[in-house]
Amino acid sequence: MRQTITLLGATGTIGVNTLDVIERHPDRFEVFALSGHRQFQRLAQQCIRHQPRYAVVLDAQIALKLSALLSAAACTTEVLVGTQALCDVASDPCVDTVMAAIVGAAGLGSTMAAVRAGKKLLLANKESLVMAGTLFMQAVVESGSMVLPIDSEHNAIFQCLPVSYADDHRGGVSKLLLSASGGPFRGWDRDRMRGVTPAEACAHPQWAMGDKISVDSATMMNKGLEVIEAGWLFDMPASKIDVVIHPQSIIHSMVQYVDGSVLAQLGHPDMRTPIAHALAWPERMASGVEDLDLVALSRLDFAAPDERNFPCLAMAYGAAKAGGDAPAVLNAANEIAVQAFLDLRIDFTEIAEVVEHIMNEYRFSEPESLAAVEESDARARVMSVARIDRIER
Ligand code: NDP
Ligand code: MG
Repeated sequence: MRQTITLLGATGTIGVNTLDVIERHPDRFEVFALSGHRQFQRLAQQCIRHQPRYAVVLDAQIALKLSALLSAAACTTEVLVGTQALCDVASDPCVDTVMAAIVGAAGLGSTMAAVRAGKKLLLANKESLVMAGTLFMQAVVESGSMVLPIDSEHNAIFQCLPVSYADDHRGGVSKLLLSASGGPFRGWDRDRMRGVTPAEACAHPQWAMGDKISVDSATMMNKGLEVIEAGWLFDMPASKIDVVIHPQSIIHSMVQYVDGSVLAQLGHPDMRTPIAHALAWPERMASGVEDLDLVALSRLDFAAPDERNFPCLAMAYGAAKAGGDAPAVLNAANEIAVQAFLDLRIDFTEIAEVVEHIMNEYRFSEPESLAAVEESDARARVMSVARIDRIER
């Protein structure tokens, strides 16, 4: 039996890598739906190649252009429009597996729809779990959804955990050690970072990723979001999740045990490894990633994170500790600030300043529903926009 897959965010970096892996195993996978946003030409090519039943976009004009390209190629994929359509293809009874690879809070609704429908969820869209942690994990328990992490660090931890982790009171795990490359500005101070351009911030030394996560890696907010993500996925307090700078990005993360053992997962910095792992789990299958040559690598380095020059990491630990809607507010302020930086409206170092300001001003509460999470997200966005307007003036 082939696994039927909905791929949300097919046109992005994770989406393209996922289709690369799927294409290697036509006997195992069948594509049910693909979604994109602005890159309709790429989405059309993907539909022509993979022949999904549905393609989803958000904008009616883009849907028309996509439909025209598909008809011209005699492709029978049906084009659907809007956020409800994203939720529908994520929860359709024909679907076994959903890859959640939309970037940012825009992925929340469809990711939650997949969880509530009890799908096997391949989670790349970390922002949805950061925003709605309690409700997300409650829905996982209620629906029996299986969440497999795509984020390379969390996928590594998942691979290094003991089989008895959930049943046996964490199976002797004492700490999670999250790898961080340190990004393109590792070793820099804040003054040197002030004038960097979006192109410099997006030029990650090890990973080719979308702009938003690349900027998050440069500020280290990505690692902060990952601390919160790991807390939810592995039911671990942030105090037991350490970040270790490892510039080569070969060890993707580690699990420390009470007996002094540390288990690590290693591999090339290529997202096809965690994607193939999660797609095939509990089996293994080829991903297209070449073998690791440890002798050629010859050395692996480690250092402590620089929290003074990269304040976003400490802010994320603070949000994890505060709980409630604090992580959703952190995420919203960060998304607005990152976009303002990409739009050349604020300096790189002002991303952290905007987030810090919002985290100090916002009065946190416990969101009881997804609508309440979305309300906190919206309020934090309005505050962040106002803050950025003031910085610009
Ligand atoms: P990209 O920016 O490359 O792709 C994002 C995808 O989301 C695209 O398909 C894009 O469509 C779509 N999209 C953008 N905005 C919207 C919206 N408002 N509504 C619906 N769809 C939208 O991002 P990545 O692939 O790099 O990252 C995707 C997710 O995976 C993020 O949450 C990221 O944190 C996570 N992740 C990524 C890793 C990586 O190596 N790239 C590693 C670990 C996690 P279009 O391009 O057509 O406009
Ligand atoms: Mg990661």
